[in-house]
Amino acid sequence: LSFSESPLDKVLLENIGYAHYTTPTPVQKYSIPIVAGGRDLMACAQTGSGKTGGFLFPILSASFSDGPRAPPEQTQASYGRRKAYPTALILAPTRELVSQIHDEARKFAYRSWVRPAVVYGGADINQQLRQIERGCDLLSATPGRLVDLIERGRISLANIKYLVLDEADRMLDMGFEPQIRRIVQQEDMPDVTERQTLMFSATFPRDIQMLARDFLKDYVFLSV
Ligand code: AMP
Repeated sequence: LSFSESPLDKVLLENIGYAHYTTPTPVQKYSIPIVAGGRDLMACAQTGSGKTGGFLFPILSASFSDGPRAPPEQTQASYGRRKAYPTALILAPTRELVSQIHDEARKFAYRSWVRPAVVYGGADINQQLRQIERGCDLLSATPGRLVDLIERGRISLANIKYLVLDEADRMLDMGFEPQIRRIVQQEDMPDVTERQTLMFSATFPRDIQMLARDFLKDYVFLSV
């Protein structure tokens, strides 16, 4: 199987070719049609399995064919500053991981309208604020820093179409469950029926099963 047989936009397929990816990894082979078909997904996959492409490719694919989106409505003047309205949110446990996801997003969003952004704790928040002001359609974030930016009124989740929880088991091990629940239960976050939710985890213990039950709808379970 090659990427050209998968349901992805042809400009995205060219970007994938530039990255010298020729064959989808097993998790990509199964997750791309599931996500492109609009289903929620719970995938058990390890780091190194290619899971990043497994969620980024189908999320990005639609944004090549649907052209630039209309500027978001700026209803709240949050302290007179611009507020970002990402359409895709990817939560991951560490600075290293969100940075890797962001680098892939930038590479594959090339020639689409999607402007990727990344935020994480332990780094200068003002520099990150300037970055998200320049454009923030697909946001990769660690949970604590995102809660901070939401509380400062600088990010709204009202336009979220895709929510991804990557390395969910590690996020719980690191004690991020309260922040994750706070983010997903934000009052402006679209309801589970209004968004598409994808969860990736190396393991599927009881606490991850509970998160899946609470955050996903009628999901496909994939184990590779
Ligand atoms: P991940 O598990 O998403 O962190 O990916 C692990 C590594 O595999 C990364 O360095 C990717 O750039 C690379 N990779 C992902 N998918 C493919 C593919 N289909 N072909 C070749 N390399 C890939």
